[in-house]
Amino acid sequence: DAYLGAIDHANGTLNAYVAVTPDKARAMAKASDEKIGKGEAGALEGIPLGIKDLFSTEGVHTQAASHILDGFEPRYESTVTANLWADGAVMLGKLNMDEFAMGSSNETSYYGPVKNPWRKAGSNADMVPGGSSGGSAAAVAAHLCAGATATDTGGSIRQPAALTGTVGIKPTYGRCSRWGIVAFASSLDQAGPIARDVRDSAILLKSMASSDAKDTTSVDREVPDYEAAVGRSVRGLKIGIPKEYRMDGMPEEIETLWQQGIAWLKDAGAEIVDVSLPHTKYALPAYYIVAPAEASSNLARYDGVRYGLRVPGGNIAEMYENTRAAGFGREVKRRIMIGTYVLSAGYYDAYYLQAQKVRTLIKRDFETVYADGVDALLTPATPSAAFGIGDQDMAADPVKMYLNDIFTVTVNMAGLPGIAVPAGLSAAGLPLGLQLIGRPFDEETLFAAGA
Ligand code: GLN
Repeated sequence: DAYLGAIDHANGTLNAYVAVTPDKARAMAKASDEKIGKGEAGALEGIPLGIKDLFSTEGVHTQAASHILDGFEPRYESTVTANLWADGAVMLGKLNMDEFAMGSSNETSYYGPVKNPWRKAGSNADMVPGGSSGGSAAAVAAHLCAGATATDTGGSIRQPAALTGTVGIKPTYGRCSRWGIVAFASSLDQAGPIARDVRDSAILLKSMASSDAKDTTSVDREVPDYEAAVGRSVRGLKIGIPKEYRMDGMPEEIETLWQQGIAWLKDAGAEIVDVSLPHTKYALPAYYIVAPAEASSNLARYDGVRYGLRVPGGNIAEMYENTRAAGFGREVKRRIMIGTYVLSAGYYDAYYLQAQKVRTLIKRDFETVYADGVDALLTPATPSAAFGIGDQDMAADPVKMYLNDIFTVTVNMAGLPGIAVPAGLSAAGLPLGLQLIGRPFDEETLFAAGA
Protein backbone atom coordinates (compact mmCIF):
# COMPACT_ATOMS: atom_id res chain seq x y z
CA ASP A 1 0.00 0.00 0.00
CA ALA A 2 2.87 2.36 0.79
CA TYR A 3 4.44 1.80 -2.63
CA LEU A 4 1.10 2.06 -4.46
CA GLY A 5 0.48 5.32 -2.58
CA ALA A 6 3.90 6.64 -3.56
CA ILE A 7 3.23 5.74 -7.22
CA ASP A 8 -0.13 7.50 -7.04
CA HIS A 9 1.54 10.56 -5.62
CA ALA A 10 4.61 10.82 -7.87
CA ASN A 11 4.03 8.97 -11.12
CA GLY A 12 2.06 11.81 -12.69
CA THR A 13 5.26 13.85 -12.50
CA LEU A 14 7.95 11.22 -13.10
CA ASN A 15 6.15 9.06 -15.72
CA ALA A 16 8.14 6.04 -14.55
CA TYR A 17 5.26 3.54 -14.74
CA VAL A 18 3.30 2.96 -17.93
CA ALA A 19 0.89 0.54 -16.22
CA VAL A 20 0.17 0.04 -12.53
CA THR A 21 -1.35 -3.26 -11.34
CA PRO A 22 -2.76 -2.59 -7.85
CA ASP A 23 -5.16 -5.56 -7.79
CA LYS A 24 -2.43 -7.96 -8.76
CA ALA A 25 -0.04 -6.36 -6.27
CA ARG A 26 -2.51 -6.72 -3.40
CA ALA A 27 -3.38 -10.32 -4.30
CA MET A 28 0.30 -11.26 -4.52
CA ALA A 29 1.05 -9.47 -1.25
CA LYS A 30 -1.82 -11.33 0.46
CA ALA A 31 -0.48 -14.65 -0.81
CA SER A 32 2.95 -13.63 0.54
CA ASP A 33 1.46 -12.85 3.96
CA GLU A 34 -0.05 -16.31 4.05
CA LYS A 35 3.24 -17.93 3.10
CA ILE A 36 5.10 -15.93 5.72
CA GLY A 37 2.44 -16.96 8.26
CA LYS A 38 3.09 -20.60 7.42
CA GLY A 39 6.85 -20.12 7.67
CA GLU A 40 7.26 -20.75 3.95
CA ALA A 41 8.68 -17.40 2.85
CA GLY A 42 10.69 -17.32 -0.39
CA ALA A 43 13.85 -15.28 -0.87
CA LEU A 44 11.84 -12.25 -2.07
CA GLU A 45 8.58 -12.88 -0.23
CA GLY A 46 6.41 -9.75 -0.33
CA ILE A 47 9.06 -7.51 -1.93
CA PRO A 48 7.34 -5.06 -4.33
CA LEU A 49 9.07 -4.74 -7.69
CA GLY A 50 8.60 -2.77 -10.89
CA ILE A 51 9.03 -4.59 -14.21
CA LYS A 52 10.49 -3.00 -17.34
CA ASP A 53 7.87 -2.99 -20.11
CA LEU A 54 10.21 -5.22 -22.19
CA PHE A 55 9.42 -8.30 -20.05
CA SER A 56 6.36 -10.32 -21.03
CA THR A 57 3.96 -10.54 -18.13
CA GLU A 58 1.01 -12.88 -18.52
CA GLY A 59 -2.24 -11.00 -19.07
CA VAL A 60 -0.57 -7.68 -18.26
CA HIS A 61 0.32 -4.74 -20.54
CA THR A 62 3.59 -5.47 -22.42
CA GLN A 63 4.42 -3.00 -25.19
CA ALA A 64 8.16 -2.33 -25.04
CA ALA A 65 6.99 1.31 -24.84
CA SER A 66 5.98 1.10 -28.51
CA HIS A 67 2.77 2.02 -30.26
CA ILE A 68 3.11 -1.01 -32.53
CA LEU A 69 2.38 -3.37 -29.62
CA ASP A 70 -0.84 -1.51 -28.80
CA GLY A 71 -2.96 -3.50 -26.38
CA PHE A 72 -0.64 -6.53 -26.36
CA GLU A 73 -1.10 -8.75 -23.30
CA PRO A 74 1.07 -11.87 -23.54
CA ARG A 75 -0.32 -15.29 -22.68
CA TYR A 76 3.00 -16.25 -21.16
CA GLU A 77 5.40 -15.02 -18.52
CA SER A 78 9.10 -14.29 -19.14
CA THR A 79 11.44 -16.71 -17.35
CA VAL A 80 13.06 -13.89 -15.37
CA THR A 81 9.77 -12.55 -14.00
CA ALA A 82 8.47 -16.10 -13.38
CA ASN A 83 11.62 -16.70 -11.29
CA LEU A 84 10.94 -13.54 -9.27
CA TRP A 85 7.30 -14.48 -8.59
CA ALA A 86 8.34 -18.02 -7.64
CA ASP A 87 10.56 -16.46 -4.95
CA GLY A 88 7.62 -14.42 -3.62
CA ALA A 89 8.14 -10.98 -5.21
CA VAL A 90 5.11 -8.75 -5.78
CA MET A 91 4.45 -6.93 -9.08
CA LEU A 92 3.56 -3.23 -8.85
CA GLY A 93 3.36 -2.58 -12.59
CA LYS A 94 5.25 -2.04 -15.84
CA LEU A 95 8.00 0.54 -16.20
CA ASN A 96 8.63 3.08 -18.92
CA MET A 97 11.67 2.73 -21.22
CA ASP A 98 13.01 3.81 -24.59
CA GLU A 99 10.98 2.25 -27.40
CA PHE A 100 12.24 -1.33 -27.90
CA ALA A 101 15.12 -0.39 -25.57
CA MET A 102 16.67 1.84 -28.23
CA GLY A 103 18.00 4.96 -26.58
CA SER A 104 20.01 6.45 -23.76
CA SER A 105 17.63 9.04 -22.34
CA ASN A 106 14.17 7.43 -22.22
CA GLU A 107 13.00 10.07 -24.69
CA THR A 108 12.13 7.60 -27.48
CA SER A 109 9.26 6.07 -25.46
CA TYR A 110 5.79 6.17 -27.01
CA TYR A 111 4.60 7.22 -23.55
CA GLY A 112 6.87 10.24 -23.38
CA PRO A 113 10.03 10.87 -21.37
CA VAL A 114 10.68 9.78 -17.81
CA LYS A 115 11.92 12.48 -15.47
CA ASN A 116 14.98 11.89 -13.33
CA PRO A 117 14.00 12.45 -9.66
CA TRP A 118 17.32 14.34 -9.37
CA ARG A 119 17.77 17.94 -10.49
CA LYS A 120 20.74 20.26 -10.59
CA ALA A 121 21.18 22.21 -7.38
CA GLY A 122 19.04 25.36 -7.54
CA SER A 123 17.45 24.45 -10.90
CA ASN A 124 13.95 23.44 -11.89
CA ALA A 125 14.95 21.96 -15.25
CA ASP A 126 13.96 18.32 -15.74
CA MET A 127 16.84 15.94 -16.37
CA VAL A 128 16.78 12.59 -18.19
CA PRO A 129 17.11 9.43 -16.07
CA GLY A 130 19.19 7.78 -18.80
CA GLY A 131 17.98 4.89 -20.89
CA SER A 132 16.78 2.60 -22.02
CA SER A 133 15.79 1.43 -18.52
CA GLY A 134 14.94 4.99 -17.45
CA GLY A 135 11.64 4.04 -15.82
CA SER A 136 13.34 1.31 -13.78
CA ALA A 137 16.09 3.65 -12.57
CA ALA A 138 13.76 6.57 -11.78
CA ALA A 139 11.27 4.33 -9.95
CA VAL A 140 14.01 2.81 -7.78
CA ALA A 141 15.60 6.22 -7.09
CA ALA A 142 12.23 7.74 -6.11
CA HIS A 143 11.14 4.78 -3.92
CA LEU A 144 8.31 3.84 -6.29
CA CYS A 145 9.43 0.19 -5.96
CA ALA A 146 11.97 -1.67 -3.84
CA GLY A 147 13.82 -2.84 -6.93
CA ALA A 148 13.25 -3.24 -10.65
CA THR A 149 14.04 -5.45 -13.58
CA ALA A 150 15.95 -3.93 -16.49
CA THR A 151 17.81 -5.00 -19.62
CA ASP A 152 21.13 -3.98 -21.10
CA THR A 153 22.12 -4.31 -24.77
CA GLY A 154 24.75 -1.57 -24.82
CA GLY A 155 24.46 0.07 -21.42
CA SER A 156 20.75 0.28 -20.63
CA ILE A 157 21.07 -0.99 -17.06
CA ARG A 158 24.36 0.67 -16.09
CA GLN A 159 23.93 4.12 -17.68
CA PRO A 160 20.50 4.91 -16.12
CA ALA A 161 21.69 3.49 -12.77
CA ALA A 162 24.68 5.85 -12.90
CA LEU A 163 22.52 8.87 -13.77
CA THR A 164 20.07 8.24 -10.91
CA GLY A 165 22.41 7.22 -8.07
CA THR A 166 21.24 3.59 -8.09
CA VAL A 167 23.05 0.28 -8.61
CA GLY A 168 22.69 -1.64 -11.86
CA ILE A 169 24.34 -4.89 -12.88
CA LYS A 170 24.41 -6.46 -16.32
CA PRO A 171 25.40 -10.05 -15.72
CA THR A 172 27.42 -12.21 -18.08
CA TYR A 173 25.63 -13.01 -21.35
CA GLY A 174 23.73 -16.24 -20.73
CA ARG A 175 23.30 -15.76 -16.98
CA CYS A 176 19.61 -14.79 -17.23
CA SER A 177 17.22 -16.36 -19.69
CA ARG A 178 16.08 -14.06 -22.47
CA TRP A 179 12.90 -16.07 -22.97
CA GLY A 180 9.85 -13.81 -22.91
CA ILE A 181 11.89 -10.61 -23.09
CA VAL A 182 11.06 -8.60 -26.22
CA ALA A 183 14.18 -9.02 -28.37
CA PHE A 184 16.29 -6.02 -29.47
CA ALA A 185 19.73 -7.46 -30.38
CA SER A 186 19.74 -11.09 -29.32
CA SER A 187 23.51 -11.59 -29.10
CA LEU A 188 23.86 -8.57 -26.78
CA ASP A 189 20.63 -8.44 -24.71
CA GLN A 190 20.84 -9.41 -21.04
CA ALA A 191 18.49 -8.87 -18.11
CA GLY A 192 19.59 -7.62 -14.71
CA PRO A 193 18.32 -5.66 -11.72
CA ILE A 194 18.39 -1.99 -10.80
CA ALA A 195 18.36 -1.61 -7.02
CA ARG A 196 19.09 0.86 -4.24
CA ASP A 197 22.33 -0.75 -3.14
CA VAL A 198 24.77 -3.52 -4.03
CA ARG A 199 23.28 -6.03 -1.57
CA ASP A 200 19.77 -5.62 -3.00
CA SER A 201 21.10 -6.05 -6.51
CA ALA A 202 22.88 -9.27 -5.47
CA ILE A 203 19.70 -10.66 -3.92
CA LEU A 204 17.62 -9.77 -6.99
CA LEU A 205 20.10 -11.20 -9.50
CA LYS A 206 20.21 -14.48 -7.58
CA SER A 207 16.45 -14.84 -8.20
CA MET A 208 16.48 -13.60 -11.80
CA ALA A 209 19.31 -15.85 -13.01
CA SER A 210 18.68 -19.41 -14.15
CA SER A 211 19.44 -21.81 -16.92
CA ASP A 212 16.43 -22.30 -19.12
CA ALA A 213 15.71 -24.87 -21.82
CA LYS A 214 13.62 -22.19 -23.58
CA ASP A 215 16.71 -20.02 -24.22
CA THR A 216 19.55 -22.04 -25.72
CA THR A 217 22.00 -19.21 -24.97
CA SER A 218 21.31 -19.40 -21.24
CA VAL A 219 24.03 -21.32 -19.42
CA ASP A 220 23.69 -24.45 -17.37
CA ARG A 221 25.71 -23.31 -14.41
CA GLU A 222 24.80 -23.05 -10.76
CA VAL A 223 23.80 -19.56 -9.60
CA PRO A 224 26.14 -18.60 -6.75
CA ASP A 225 25.01 -17.01 -3.50
CA TYR A 226 25.74 -13.47 -4.69
CA GLU A 227 24.77 -11.89 -1.38
CA ALA A 228 27.62 -13.76 0.32
CA ALA A 229 30.05 -11.88 -1.95
CA VAL A 230 28.83 -8.48 -0.67
CA GLY A 231 31.21 -7.38 2.06
CA ARG A 232 33.89 -9.84 0.97
CA SER A 233 37.36 -8.28 1.16
CA VAL A 234 38.96 -6.92 -2.00
CA ARG A 235 42.43 -7.33 -0.49
CA GLY A 236 44.79 -8.75 -3.10
CA LEU A 237 42.42 -8.24 -6.01
CA LYS A 238 44.11 -6.96 -9.15
CA ILE A 239 42.06 -4.09 -10.61
CA GLY A 240 42.91 -2.91 -14.11
CA ILE A 241 42.58 0.71 -15.27
CA PRO A 242 42.18 0.70 -19.07
CA LYS A 243 44.00 3.70 -20.51
CA GLU A 244 41.78 3.87 -23.61
CA TYR A 245 38.85 4.92 -21.40
CA ARG A 246 40.58 8.24 -20.76
CA MET A 247 38.82 10.02 -23.61
CA ASP A 248 39.70 13.38 -25.12
CA GLY A 249 37.46 16.07 -23.74
CA MET A 250 36.33 13.99 -20.78
CA PRO A 251 35.06 16.39 -18.08
CA GLU A 252 37.45 16.99 -15.20
CA GLU A 253 34.90 15.77 -12.66
CA ILE A 254 34.70 12.35 -14.33
CA GLU A 255 38.48 11.98 -14.13
CA THR A 256 38.36 13.05 -10.46
CA LEU A 257 35.63 10.49 -9.75
CA TRP A 258 37.70 7.78 -11.40
CA GLN A 259 40.77 8.70 -9.30
CA GLN A 260 38.57 8.61 -6.18
CA GLY A 261 37.42 5.09 -7.08
CA ILE A 262 41.02 4.00 -7.61
CA ALA A 263 41.95 5.44 -4.20
CA TRP A 264 39.05 3.63 -2.47
CA LEU A 265 40.04 0.27 -3.89
CA LYS A 266 43.72 0.86 -3.11
CA ASP A 267 42.87 1.78 0.49
CA ALA A 268 40.86 -1.43 0.77
CA GLY A 269 43.92 -3.45 -0.23
CA ALA A 270 43.43 -3.97 -3.98
CA GLU A 271 46.34 -3.78 -6.37
CA ILE A 272 45.86 -1.23 -9.16
CA VAL A 273 47.46 -1.89 -12.56
CA ASP A 274 47.36 0.04 -15.83
CA VAL A 275 46.07 -2.04 -18.72
CA SER A 276 45.36 -1.53 -22.40
CA LEU A 277 42.27 -2.51 -24.40
CA PRO A 278 43.52 -1.32 -27.81
CA HIS A 279 40.31 -1.89 -29.81
CA THR A 280 38.09 0.17 -27.52
CA LYS A 281 37.74 3.00 -30.04
CA TYR A 282 36.03 0.67 -32.53
CA ALA A 283 33.43 -0.61 -30.05
CA LEU A 284 30.78 2.06 -30.55
CA PRO A 285 30.84 2.04 -34.39
CA ALA A 286 30.83 -1.78 -34.40
CA TYR A 287 27.96 -1.87 -31.91
CA TYR A 288 25.91 0.47 -34.11
CA ILE A 289 26.21 -2.05 -36.94
CA VAL A 290 25.67 -5.27 -35.00
CA ALA A 291 22.80 -4.03 -32.80
CA PRO A 292 20.70 -2.48 -35.62
CA ALA A 293 21.36 -5.53 -37.84
CA GLU A 294 19.93 -7.87 -35.23
CA ALA A 295 17.14 -5.42 -34.43
CA SER A 296 16.04 -5.19 -38.06
CA SER A 297 15.67 -8.96 -38.09
CA ASN A 298 13.94 -9.19 -34.70
CA LEU A 299 11.50 -6.39 -35.45
CA ALA A 300 10.36 -7.89 -38.76
CA ARG A 301 7.67 -9.76 -36.79
CA TYR A 302 5.74 -6.55 -36.09
CA ASP A 303 3.74 -6.58 -39.27
CA GLY A 304 0.22 -5.81 -38.11
CA VAL A 305 -0.79 -9.47 -38.38
CA ARG A 306 0.51 -11.15 -35.27
CA TYR A 307 0.63 -8.52 -32.53
CA GLY A 308 -0.83 -5.25 -31.40
CA LEU A 309 -1.52 -2.44 -33.81
CA ARG A 310 -3.02 -2.92 -37.28
CA VAL A 311 -3.61 -0.01 -39.62
CA PRO A 312 -5.68 -1.23 -42.60
CA GLY A 313 -4.67 -0.70 -46.24
CA GLY A 314 -5.98 -1.56 -49.69
CA ASN A 315 -3.92 -4.77 -49.78
CA ILE A 316 -1.60 -6.66 -47.45
CA ALA A 317 1.58 -4.78 -48.47
CA GLU A 318 -0.16 -1.49 -47.82
CA MET A 319 -1.39 -2.77 -44.45
CA TYR A 320 2.23 -3.65 -43.48
CA GLU A 321 3.42 -0.21 -44.55
CA ASN A 322 0.66 1.68 -42.82
CA THR A 323 1.08 -0.30 -39.61
CA ARG A 324 4.84 0.15 -39.46
CA ALA A 325 4.67 3.81 -40.46
CA ALA A 326 2.25 4.54 -37.64
CA GLY A 327 3.54 2.02 -35.11
CA PHE A 328 7.30 2.60 -34.95
CA GLY A 329 8.92 5.78 -33.66
CA ARG A 330 11.74 7.68 -35.37
CA GLU A 331 14.67 6.04 -33.60
CA VAL A 332 13.31 2.53 -34.18
CA LYS A 333 12.82 3.27 -37.88
CA ARG A 334 16.38 4.61 -38.07
CA ARG A 335 17.72 1.38 -36.54
CA ILE A 336 15.67 -0.84 -38.88
CA MET A 337 16.94 1.09 -41.91
CA ILE A 338 20.59 0.94 -40.76
CA GLY A 339 20.22 -2.76 -39.95
CA THR A 340 18.61 -3.66 -43.26
CA TYR A 341 21.29 -1.70 -45.10
CA VAL A 342 24.29 -3.32 -43.40
CA LEU A 343 22.83 -6.79 -43.94
CA SER A 344 21.96 -6.30 -47.60
CA ALA A 345 23.82 -8.05 -50.40
CA GLY A 346 26.87 -6.02 -51.37
CA TYR A 347 27.16 -4.31 -47.98
CA TYR A 348 27.16 -7.34 -45.70
CA ASP A 349 30.90 -7.99 -46.15
CA ALA A 350 31.83 -4.33 -45.86
CA TYR A 351 29.85 -3.61 -42.70
CA TYR A 352 28.28 -6.50 -40.83
CA LEU A 353 31.10 -9.02 -41.33
CA GLN A 354 33.74 -6.39 -40.48
CA ALA A 355 31.86 -5.42 -37.34
CA GLN A 356 31.72 -9.06 -36.23
CA LYS A 357 35.49 -9.33 -36.71
CA VAL A 358 36.02 -6.16 -34.69
CA ARG A 359 33.80 -7.66 -32.02
CA THR A 360 36.13 -10.65 -31.77
CA LEU A 361 39.12 -8.32 -31.39
CA ILE A 362 37.36 -6.42 -28.59
CA LYS A 363 36.64 -9.70 -26.82
CA ARG A 364 40.30 -10.74 -27.17
CA ASP A 365 41.46 -7.45 -25.62
CA PHE A 366 39.63 -8.42 -22.43
CA GLU A 367 40.81 -12.04 -22.58
CA THR A 368 44.42 -10.86 -22.77
CA VAL A 369 44.05 -8.61 -19.75
CA TYR A 370 42.29 -11.30 -17.71
CA ALA A 371 44.93 -13.87 -18.71
CA ASP A 372 47.49 -11.53 -17.12
CA GLY A 373 45.76 -12.04 -13.78
CA VAL A 374 43.54 -8.97 -13.69
CA ASP A 375 40.35 -9.69 -11.69
CA ALA A 376 38.23 -6.71 -12.74
CA LEU A 377 38.46 -3.35 -14.46
CA LEU A 378 37.42 0.03 -13.08
CA THR A 379 36.11 2.75 -15.42
CA PRO A 380 33.66 5.65 -15.29
CA ALA A 381 30.11 4.47 -16.04
CA THR A 382 29.16 7.45 -18.22
CA PRO A 383 31.01 10.34 -19.87
CA SER A 384 28.86 12.92 -18.00
CA ALA A 385 26.10 13.40 -15.45
CA ALA A 386 22.44 13.46 -16.51
CA PHE A 387 21.59 15.98 -19.24
CA GLY A 388 18.40 17.96 -19.72
CA ILE A 389 15.25 16.51 -21.28
CA GLY A 390 15.04 17.79 -24.85
CA ASP A 391 18.79 18.54 -25.07
CA GLN A 392 19.09 20.24 -28.46
CA ASP A 393 22.59 18.94 -29.29
CA MET A 394 21.53 15.34 -28.89
CA ALA A 395 18.18 15.78 -30.57
CA ALA A 396 19.90 17.24 -33.63
CA ASP A 397 22.57 14.53 -33.85
CA PRO A 398 21.76 10.93 -32.91
CA VAL A 399 25.49 10.08 -32.86
CA LYS A 400 25.92 12.48 -29.91
CA MET A 401 23.28 10.46 -28.08
CA TYR A 402 25.07 7.21 -28.98
CA LEU A 403 28.26 8.52 -27.31
CA ASN A 404 26.57 8.10 -23.92
CA ASP A 405 27.37 4.39 -24.15
CA ILE A 406 31.06 4.85 -24.87
CA PHE A 407 32.10 3.13 -21.59
CA THR A 408 29.43 0.44 -21.53
CA VAL A 409 29.06 -1.11 -25.03
CA THR A 410 32.41 -2.96 -25.02
CA VAL A 411 31.10 -5.07 -22.15
CA ASN A 412 28.10 -6.24 -24.21
CA MET A 413 30.25 -6.85 -27.26
CA ALA A 414 32.44 -9.17 -25.14
CA GLY A 415 29.49 -10.70 -23.21
CA LEU A 416 31.06 -9.75 -19.86
CA PRO A 417 29.44 -8.74 -16.56
CA GLY A 418 29.47 -5.05 -15.58
CA ILE A 419 28.13 -3.18 -12.56
CA ALA A 420 27.50 0.55 -12.13
CA VAL A 421 27.63 1.90 -8.59
CA PRO A 422 26.97 5.42 -7.30
CA ALA A 423 30.29 7.08 -6.49
CA GLY A 424 29.70 10.78 -5.98
CA LEU A 425 28.00 13.93 -7.19
CA SER A 426 28.80 16.25 -10.07
CA ALA A 427 29.58 19.91 -9.43
CA ALA A 428 25.90 20.59 -10.18
CA GLY A 429 24.82 18.04 -7.57
CA LEU A 430 23.81 15.19 -9.89
CA PRO A 431 24.75 11.53 -9.28
CA LEU A 432 27.81 10.03 -10.97
CA GLY A 433 28.66 6.35 -11.23
CA LEU A 434 31.67 4.12 -11.63
CA GLN A 435 31.70 0.86 -13.53
CA LEU A 436 33.42 -2.41 -12.68
CA ILE A 437 33.86 -4.96 -15.46
CA GLY A 438 34.43 -8.60 -14.51
CA ARG A 439 35.56 -11.92 -15.88
CA PRO A 440 32.88 -14.11 -17.46
CA PHE A 441 30.52 -15.44 -14.73
CA ASP A 442 32.45 -13.69 -11.97
CA GLU A 443 29.65 -11.38 -10.83
CA GLU A 444 30.76 -12.07 -7.26
CA THR A 445 33.94 -9.99 -7.61
CA LEU A 446 31.81 -7.13 -8.94
CA PHE A 447 29.51 -7.33 -5.91
CA ALA A 448 32.49 -7.44 -3.53
CA ALA A 449 34.37 -4.54 -5.14
CA GLY A 450 31.18 -2.59 -5.92
CA ALA A 451 30.09 -2.66 -2.28
N1 GLN B 1 21.75 3.22 -25.87
C1 GLN B 1 22.07 2.01 -26.57
C2 GLN B 1 21.17 1.89 -27.78
O1 GLN B 1 20.37 2.76 -27.96
C3 GLN B 1 21.92 0.81 -25.68
C4 GLN B 1 20.51 0.50 -25.36
C5 GLN B 1 20.38 -0.73 -24.53
O2 GLN B 1 21.30 -1.15 -23.84
N2 GLN B 1 19.21 -1.35 -24.62
O3 GLN B 1 21.23 0.96 -28.52
